[in-house]
Amino acid sequence: MILDANKKENIFKAADVIRRGGLVAFPTETVYGLGADAFNEQAVLKIFKAKGRPLEDPLILHICDITQLDRIAEEVPEKARILIKKFWPGPLTIIFNKSKNISDKITASLKTVAVRMPSNNVALNLIKESNTVIAAPSANKFQGISPTNASDVEEELGAKVDIILDGGMSEYGLESTIVDCRGDEVLVLRLGAISNEQIEQELQEKVSLKVVSIDSKAAPGMYELHYAPKKELIFLDERQLVNFLKQNSITEAVILCFSKQEEEFLRKNGFKEVVVLSQEGSYKEAANKYFSTLRDLDKSNFKSIICYKLPDNGLGRTINDRMKKASHHGSGKV
Ligand code: AMP
Ligand code: MG
Repeated sequence: MILDANKKENIFKAADVIRRGGLVAFPTETVYGLGADAFNEQAVLKIFKAKGRPLEDPLILHICDITQLDRIAEEVPEKARILIKKFWPGPLTIIFNKSKNISDKITASLKTVAVRMPSNNVALNLIKESNTVIAAPSANKFQGISPTNASDVEEELGAKVDIILDGGMSEYGLESTIVDCRGDEVLVLRLGAISNEQIEQELQEKVSLKVVSIDSKAAPGMYELHYAPKKELIFLDERQLVNFLKQNSITEAVILCFSKQEEEFLRKNGFKEVVVLSQEGSYKEAANKYFSTLRDLDKSNFKSIICYKLPDNGLGRTINDRMKKASHHGSGKV
């Protein structure tokens, strides 16, 4: 059931569902989340079931007030304090040593827990009215495309969710950045809506992107295929594109690219079906449109989707990460 998040009574209804151990899909500034009471293990298990998500993939906890962190984290490292001050509320998830109050189901038995405070007002009000901490992954089926509006959630999960709160389009359209600053080195575990450059500027030091190893406890929940459409998706940079064109016909493919500049280059190379994320080359606009555009292309008549690599900095790096993880078949035939 989709309810208008602008009506206060609907936030109360949704909070009631959370308190009773149900599932609520709600807008955040990153993507839509699928929430349950983090202190109700049965409710948390429903999240995994609804998504078809394996239990070894840990969940992010969402808070609305910094004092809630006391119940969740053992300690708050100094660098985390700096990042909290700058980026919370907002799309940055921080890893802490977990307190005993947190169920192993949430953390996939890790000794750490991932936490963020969203900036979206519907999300903040829902957490506040529920009077708890909300565990919430993205509101899509496991490995699927993240939803950035209420009807995409409905399409993904439908009746598996008790209430879907409709708060319009997600502002960023990309998941939160996940950072671990417990040690000497600052590790980015997942690229996201806050760029590495922003974190580096705040901490005045370089961050490292943690090398992802599948099935490793060091990088939980990082699966080879993620954020993927049902159609074949091929991710290519400029060099790969040239080789690809030598071996493949592109008549049944559509190509998704960053800006007008890339579009011109691609048309010169024979592409007729070109979809541009941001004419003027704004990363923010491209990020905001990426998942919903991919979802539309997945419903189109094209046989496959080619994603053309963006410039590899700022949010371009995050979008490239999402495109790469969504490519199932490498550079197979189009
Ligand atoms: P989602 O909410 O669907 O965007 O996925 C949450 C992701 O957060 C998981 O897939 C993990 O990659 C990451 N995560 C959650 N908890 C932890 C943790 N304790 N340590 C490292 N990564 C985590
Ligand atoms: Mg997800």
